[in-house]
Amino acid sequence: MNLPICNFDAKNSLLCPQCEKKVEEGQLTKADVDASIKLAQIAKTNSEVDKFTLHSCKEFDGNFVLSFSKEDIMAIRQSRTLYRLIQDQFQGKIWLVEAEENDRKFIEDMFFPTKILSINNVWAPGGIQKTKAIVSGKWTPRFPINTETVVQIVKDARNLDIEIEFENKRR
Ligand SMILES: [Zn+2]
Repeated sequence: MNLPICNFDAKNSLLCPQCEKKVEEGQLTKADVDASIKLAQIAKTNSEVDKFTLHSCKEFDGNFVLSFSKEDIMAIRQSRTLYRLIQDQFQGKIWLVEAEENDRKFIEDMFFPTKILSINNVWAPGGIQKTKAIVSGKWTPRFPINTETVVQIVKDARNLDIEIEFENKRR
């Protein structure tokens, strides 16, 4: 398992001086530390999670954006049990994103499994550049993803202003 903090620290819920220093210097956040410890607890009884690589965890208002390696994301998406196991450890909603991805992929991950039809840069009045994402289908009250939360997370995590539109605007 690869985590933002040492495996030993994560398994024992403590921080060695090096990791402590990284937290103090802002290289690591409390969310990175907490998520590492949570995953290490799951890994104790789950050999699949024990092979995961967590790059980071960012918390935005009770939303946890977990950045994993591509193979790990695929494994979690294929297993409801695995997803539940991880989600249950967190107090808020978890969002799975691939590590080192671009803005476009990040937005696609936020909406998974709903498809994003297009992501384009548009110019808003006043010369402000915005990114418009068109989501397939139409919005219904049952749509499982809170689009306002997505807008906020994309702004905080990627410093990107996005506008979300549904393919079929008529309700
Ligand atoms: Zn350490």
